[in-house]
Amino acid sequence: METNILVADDSEYFREQIRADLEGNGYRVLLAEDGAQALSIYRSHDIHILITDLEMPVMTGLELCWHVRAEDDQHRTFTILMTGDTETARRIEAFDSGADEFLAKPIDLSMLRARVRAGERITRMHRAMVEMLHTDYLTGVLNRRYFMERLEQAYRAAKEKGTALAVAMFDLDHFKTINDTHGHSNGDLALKRFADHCAARVPDGGFLGRLGGEEFCLCLPAGDLETALAQVEAIRRSTAEIMVETGAGSSFSFTVSIGMCLIQDTDSINDLMTQADEALYFAKRSGRNRTVLRGAEGVTVKARFYVM
Ligand code: GH3
Ligand code: MG
Ligand code: MG
Ligand code: MG
Repeated sequence: METNILVADDSEYFREQIRADLEGNGYRVLLAEDGAQALSIYRSHDIHILITDLEMPVMTGLELCWHVRAEDDQHRTFTILMTGDTETARRIEAFDSGADEFLAKPIDLSMLRARVRAGERITRMHRAMVEMLHTDYLTGVLNRRYFMERLEQAYRAAKEKGTALAVAMFDLDHFKTINDTHGHSNGDLALKRFADHCAARVPDGGFLGRLGGEEFCLCLPAGDLETALAQVEAIRRSTAEIMVETGAGSSFSFTVSIGMCLIQDTDSINDLMTQADEALYFAKRSGRNRTVLRGAEGVTVKARFYVM
């Protein structure tokens, strides 16, 4: 995988010198003439390493580091600050603004490359750890913790902007029987196949997580409710066509029950999950292998459900 390095320096001479050296060593290099330009490039690219001059017009390297650190809450970018300033106080200030490394000007290019290699090791390990922290080990979809984090962000944004979002809660039908009949490892295989199947069908702007066991949750845009329902229904119907091969030529299939509700019909994340859960319970009770949408005015036991 290519390492993207963003170099910000108001001196064209230094920029070109660093660019030529790093490109010659196989790195992909992006250039910025000041902090503001660097920040805008940073926002539209996945930058592994940022090398920035300290004194620059428009926005200084310190401010740039400060912005990057504030936005990069997962620490995906390793930052190296360069300056001719030898004052210790300035260097301390650099680290306090969020810089990871410091390099004195004039730049020794072999030293810069060594710092870049060290930065690469750290940022790659860090990214792998964050990835692990967010991913369900068995299925590769978002884990419960990260799914809920994403849902909270999406919920807040939807409430603020008034955009329509839905959650669809999936629970595989009679999964205990599947384990009992085909064995736990084939049950695991079914969970993986189902997760892959769903992941390939997540609508744009949606995200999928495994809440635990044989329960998954999809958050999806629902500006057009009919479309959202059709997308979820398509997942349900096609799930029944997944054939899990158990070896020796035999295979089995399974079905899924789905409870859906809209965020605009709820007043908290808890309420949202409870309503989806109620719809799911209704889907189970009324025969499984179906999608149930929790109706807007239903907060009582007599809530209206729309069974697809
Ligand atoms: P229902 O249709 O009502 O949902 O029935 P069910 O059997 O699916 O429901 P229940 O919640 O009683 O059982 C869920 C089962 O899912 C029990 C548990 O052994 C199984 N399960 C949970 N996590 C895993 C897993 O990671 N791998 C496998 N193979 N099975 C799991
Ligand atoms: Mg369950
Ligand atoms: Mg259950
Ligand atoms: Mg189940």
